[in-house]
Order: sequence, then structure tokens, then C-alpha cells
Amino acid sequence: MKLDATDLRYVTNDEFRVLTATEMGSKNHEVVPTPLIAQLSGLRSGGVNKCIGSLAKRGLVAKVQNSKYDGYRLTYGGLDYLAMRALSKRGTMTSVGNQIGVGKEADVYVVANDEGESMVLKLHRLGRISFRSIKNNRDYLGKRKSASWMYMSRLGAEKEYAFMKVLHEHGFPVPRPIDQARHTILMELIDAYPLRQIAEHPNPGQLYSTLMSLIVRLARAGLIHGDFNEFNILIREPDGEPVLIDFPQMVSVGHENAEWYFNRDVQCIRTFFRRRFGYESKLYPRFKAALNDEGETAFELDVEVEASGFGRKEMGLLQEYMDSVREAEGEEGEDDGEEEEEEEEDGEEEEVVEADAGETLGGEERVEDEAGKDGTEEHPEAG
Ligand code: ADP
Ligand code: MG
Repeated sequence: MKLDATDLRYVTNDEFRVLTATEMGSKNHEVVPTPLIAQLSGLRSGGVNKCIGSLAKRGLVAKVQNSKYDGYRLTYGGLDYLAMRALSKRGTMTSVGNQIGVGKEADVYVVANDEGESMVLKLHRLGRISFRSIKNNRDYLGKRKSASWMYMSRLGAEKEYAFMKVLHEHGFPVPRPIDQARHTILMELIDAYPLRQIAEHPNPGQLYSTLMSLIVRLARAGLIHGDFNEFNILIREPDGEPVLIDFPQMVSVGHENAEWYFNRDVQCIRTFFRRRFGYESKLYPRFKAALNDEGETAFELDVEVEASGFGRKEMGLLQEYMDSVREAEGEEGEDDGEEEEEEEEDGEEEEVVEADAGETLGGEERVEDEAGKDGTEEHPEAG
């Protein structure tokens, strides 16, 4: 979808309250009943209906009809809006430019702040793939089920931000992390092309060994990238140095399948260099040797990340989710992916949480004020 931050100015305070109320209601309701939105927003119902109408017209909420009741759900557009509004309140980004990446699990835009500095905004889109098959098979989300796409996307962004921060602090070649809100992260724009787009290289052997050293250095710091491939390695202008991106799937060297992930990362690079540059080397890192390697002192970034606030529980939940997406995709076959995605975008059909608005209406939770209380999580972020 097209993001338009100029839109930020055209959402009134009341509309913002209603949008936030819809987000809060989504926590327990796949389709948020209109009276609950009214209740949570703290506005009179006449005003609420007008606001809902204008939000729906702009695709920030979507009307859902089902057999029991009518209501609304927050769309990705609505969530994107809330995240960008939070970032622009803090002044870290104030305008949106071109889309530079569209992936299965994220959209990536160039954005800017008031000083005209360009940055990258990555919006996570977990849960839009094979969501249904997971929902049916797993119960680990518990009450989170009704908003799991939002929750998982948020966890993905939080995890990526936590890793990027720790890696950056320890001098790894990654973009500088700038800010994080809801399902998004804001980071330094690297002037670079993905390795994927590099047709020729003056010294593939040197690049190969730089990349392998990076894999080893990460492992010695306690981490495995898990998706170390030509799409996630940027070759920076003008020095040709590699910069590593895309961290939601990083695992600790303590993970039960760590060696498998490590070998897959190594293999990705070997295969790519053979095919693209006709370069092959007998030298490549082995997991155990890498860990035992004498050299720079090993430290435990996986432990540091945990200490930074992205805990073991969240990590486990996200990991389990990602594993089951992979599992489900495997079972369905690659071809079904698109179809699932379509269905998920389109609507909310059968599985709807009981229309018992009372359970939340009784609570004291309300949209608080312009500063924007974020209703979808335990730890509210600064508006
Ligand atoms: P995805 O989960 O969709 O793979 P990525 O983080 O890999 O998300 O980003 C997708 C694409 O966006 C990358 O291949 C790269 O071209 C571009 N990109 C992402 N982050 C940056 C950045 N910090 N600087 C420049 N380009 C970036
Ligand atoms: Mg990527």
C-alpha cells in the first residue's frame, strides 16, 4: 500500500482516539464491535460513527459483517499510521518517500526527518502468511489470537531492533538503529546494493573471506544470523564493504538447531559465490571450530539482547511462530502461499471471537489522550 505521511495532518484528534480504540479492542476481538469502539474512545456515539466512517473511507479500519454483529478491524494501513504517528510525534521521522523493498514479511520505505536526513523504515508483516493454518493448529497465542498478526509483527520488529542495537554497539557492520514503534523499526539508510544485484566483483575471494569471517565473528559473539544470503547482505558504496541486515530470525548459538542454522548460512554463501562468480574455496568455517577459535574474546550477545528487554519468552514465542509458518508452508507446498495471503488480506470470515463486549467494557481501559496509549501490549511506549 501507499504510505502517505502527509496524511498524518489530516487525522483529527477524535479520529485518532477512535483509531486507537479500535487497536485496543483488537486485543480481544477479531472484529471490534462498534459500541466497544465508542466505549473505549470515550467519545459520544454520534461523533464516533462519523470518525469511523472517515477512517474506513481511508482504509485505516475496515468494516466486517458477520452473523452475530457488525464491527471493525484495524487494517495494516491503520497500524502503519499509528506507528508513523508515534515516530513523528517523537520527531524521529516526519515524511515518507519511496518504497525500496517489498518482501513476504516486511515492507521497506525511505523516509526522512525535518533535517532532510534520509532513513529506512521497515514495517513488519508477520502473520499475513499462512495465518489460518497456524491458527487452527496451535494454541500458543492464547488470548492474543485475535490480534496475532499485530502482535507477531510487533515482536518481529522488537526483536530486530534489539539485535541491531547490540550488534551496532559491538561494531558489527549493520545499519545504525534509530527508533522503534509498534511493528516498525527506523534505521540508517545504507547507500548500497544487495549482493544479489552485484554481477561482477574485482576480488570475490576477498569478499568471500570477509563474509565467512563475519559469520564466525557472529558465532563467537553467540549469534547466528539465520538468513545470511545475497538479499540480506548490502554492498556499500563506495568502499564495497558488506553490511548485514534483516534480523528477525537470528538465533543463539545455544539453540538446539544452532549448527544446522550455521551450516545453512555458510552454505548459502558458498553456493552464491560458485554460481555468481565461479568462485569456490575449500576453506569454510565449521560450527564447533568457530566456537573454539582462539582470537578475540568471545562475548554473549544473545544474553545481552535478553537483558535489553526482548526476553526469552518473547523470543520463544516468535521462534515458535516462525517455525510453524515454515512448517505450514512446507505442508501446503510453495504454491499455496499466495492464495493464503490473499484470503487473509480479504477478510475475517468464520473465526470470530464471541461478541461479548462486556468483558472489556467493564474494564477501566480507555484511550487516554493525544499522547496515544498503545493498547496492544503490556508495556506502553512513549507516544
Ligand atoms: P525483508 O524481510 O523483506 O527481507 P529486509 O530487511 O531484508 O526485509 O529489507 C528488504 C530490502 O530493503 C533489502 O533487500 C534492501 O534492498 C532494502 N533495505 C533494507 N534495509 C536497508 C537499509 N538500512 N539501507 C538500505 N537498504 C535497505
Ligand atoms: Mg531480507
